[in-house]
Amino acid sequence: MLQLTIRPIHPRNPEEDDLGRPWGGYSAEKSHDELYRHNRGCWVLGARADQEKYALFSSDDPSGRIVRFAIAIEDIESVGNRRALIGTVLHQGHPVYDKYVDKPSPVSKARNPVTYFDAPEDRRHCVCGCGTPVTRGYFVPGHDQRAIHDRVARVGSVVEFLNWFDTHYPEPATTQA
Ligand SMILES: [Zn+2]
Repeated sequence: MLQLTIRPIHPRNPEEDDLGRPWGGYSAEKSHDELYRHNRGCWVLGARADQEKYALFSSDDPSGRIVRFAIAIEDIESVGNRRALIGTVLHQGHPVYDKYVDKPSPVSKARNPVTYFDAPEDRRHCVCGCGTPVTRGYFVPGHDQRAIHDRVARVGSVVEFLNWFDTHYPEPATTQA
């Protein structure tokens, strides 16, 4: 999971800001949607960010570092030489929101405003159906082959599978010149 630390609300010059915004940072007066639009960029994000499903945005108050809002990451765009998150703001009832928002940040000590941590919410299960959790990609190594061979075996031999596939796979529509 990605954790971004934002400052208290502060003005920006919209003519100098790469996303044309007049302010950034956290204020309790602003909605989560506004906070998202004004803080989704511009960050220095490495390749690991592309693997992350969620981002928490935190800011400090006298009691410590508090998670203010959270998003599900859908994409990351380049803005100048930095990057900005594109995502959906999470609401109450979402497991990531309910676990983290308005609570102390899980990475309160980090000085770097961009940090990553392993969270159970990031874990997926192997797509083959074996139930093994995976943190990267869709399969436990080798299970993609297993999933294919299982399906071939359900049809029969490889030849039978190919015949079945060629009979049943719809030809893509072709455009007449
Ligand atoms: Zn598997």
